[in-house]
Amino acid sequence: MSEQRRALITGITGQDGSYLAELLAQKGYAVHGLVRRSSRELPPAIESLRLSGSLTLHYGDIRDASLWERVLTECLPHEIYNLASQSNIGLSFHCAEETTETNYTAVKNLLAVATRLVPTVRFVQASSSEMFGDAPAPQSETTPFAPKNPYAVAKVRAQELCHEYRQQGFFIACAIMYNHESPRRSRQFVTRKISYTFANIARGIESHLSIGNVHAVRDWGYAPDYVEALWRIARHHEPDDFVVATGVTHTVQDFITAAALEFGLSLFWSGAGTTMQAVDQHGTTRVVIDPQYFRPTEPHTLIGDPQKIKRVLHWEATTPFLETVAIMCRADAATHPER
Ligand code: GDP
Repeated sequence: MSEQRRALITGITGQDGSYLAELLAQKGYAVHGLVRRSSRELPPAIESLRLSGSLTLHYGDIRDASLWERVLTECLPHEIYNLASQSNIGLSFHCAEETTETNYTAVKNLLAVATRLVPTVRFVQASSSEMFGDAPAPQSETTPFAPKNPYAVAKVRAQELCHEYRQQGFFIACAIMYNHESPRRSRQFVTRKISYTFANIARGIESHLSIGNVHAVRDWGYAPDYVEALWRIARHHEPDDFVVATGVTHTVQDFITAAALEFGLSLFWSGAGTTMQAVDQHGTTRVVIDPQYFRPTEPHTLIGDPQKIKRVLHWEATTPFLETVAIMCRADAATHPER
């Protein structure tokens, strides 16, 4: 009988970490996860995996360089998925140093220890479409990077380091992931902010959504599809880079209009710039622009070209945009608002 595979997931309490943990547990892995604070309540999905015995948690801050020796010795993983990151781009302008420590320095320390302690490990780095910045769309694995914010700069440096290790013969792969959403997305991200606010509007506890740039364009996928891609990248016969994307884009305005419809509200948009707004079929204002949510800079147009992952790994985003919006709205409608 072959040995049970062990996987270590950093960032296991995040959206992708929790979906990946569930996927790997289903596939029979012994899943190990890194959690920052022992006092914080665990997300329900992680708590139930832990109770079922298929997940072991390790505690520590990835910015602590001495952490890796202990954690990797404890779990001796066959696969490492590095999903931990400071992933809030707006915040990265204000906390550039912390973003670099988490998104680059921690990766550097982890790779140094992993390649020494478990040299045959298959390592998957969560890279980001943000690395392309204002590079012409659609972007593929060969598009040069043009990062526009501290988050993206740190992700580029981390991926370059991954390439150096790969050249030395280690299995270090990179998943260049475009935005991917779900009910487990944090409310700092625009999609979940929208689904959550419209659920509250439907409950009558909020009157409208205050939003930033509604013309921003994203290639939005569905997170559970994307963690399947991560696993396929780890299981491929060689380490490589893959763009993980739908290849289809929508604006923030599209997302708002679709979410409102899920709650029975047809929006009518008017105005431009900061005076833009949307009213519903009863004439009630439901969306206003608040410049506090504007970013100092925005990437140009991020559209991924997923041809390579489709051809090589037979992976494709299967959940369409409107279904993702509907899943998120239904989930927020079904849960009690957080206080
Ligand atoms: P990102 O792609 O990782 O930056 O994902 P976000 O969900 O945070 O932002 C996606 C886009 O939505 C960006 O271009 C933002 O400028 C735009 N956006 C507009 N209004 C908001 C808002 O209120 N909150 C956030 N987070 N983004 C907003």
